[in-house]
Amino acid sequence: MTQLEYKLHIDSIIERVEKARLSVSGHHIVKIVAVSKYSDAQEIRSLYEIGQRAFGENKVQDLTQKAQELYELPLEWHFIGNLQKNKINHLIKADPFLFQSLDSLELALELDKRLETNATKMDALLQINSAYEESKSGVMPEVALEIYEQINSTCKHINLKGVMSIGAHTEDKKIIQKSFETTHKIFSELTDATICSMGMSQDFELAIQCGSNMVRIGSLMFNK
Ligand SMILES: *Cc1c(COP(=O)(O)O)cnc(C)c1O
Repeated sequence: MTQLEYKLHIDSIIERVEKARLSVSGHHIVKIVAVSKYSDAQEIRSLYEIGQRAFGENKVQDLTQKAQELYELPLEWHFIGNLQKNKINHLIKADPFLFQSLDSLELALELDKRLETNATKMDALLQINSAYEESKSGVMPEVALEIYEQINSTCKHINLKGVMSIGAHTEDKKIIQKSFETTHKIFSELTDATICSMGMSQDFELAIQCGSNMVRIGSLMFNK
């Protein structure tokens, strides 16, 4: 693909996002996070040159390394992966723009402790397992509100900004939609939350129609 063809490809994704968000409302703004976990620094640079600023990684080490390689660019890094306890300090050092995958109260308490030690804060989303899949991380929908409030009141160094979910892993659109609706309902019950992060390459339009205002698109953005 030439740079021009690649730009047209990205434009077509942006148009699809536009169409989906306008079907909700002209005031419904959606942010695209390009998930670069399958891509190298050069590919990220190519996408940056087309205008993309927000990128997501699911491994702390990859985030650290790619951010270092591209340190001269004004990129916004999102961490979207499973955070093991022994990687907490590495994530704090990487200082992501947004930690999207905070998936338990236990992890929040540990992260908060380390943030306090480092005299710093972190913006985060509570990950909700709205698809009820064992393979997925996140808190169960039934306890999400309670855990969100608990983190809010207990963890002074974590700024919760909203929620994140991965859509149900199935071909059945109805079931995927249900998982998005479950997350959006919780989002709408939170008073100060601003971010509802849902939707990936295969399901971002449906996610936006269900109220997502942040999509995480990987394989499609990078042509993988
Ligand atoms: C990989 C990943 C994505 C992007 O997935 P694609 O299907 O490649 O768009 C989004 N969110 C999370 C949490 C991921 O791990």
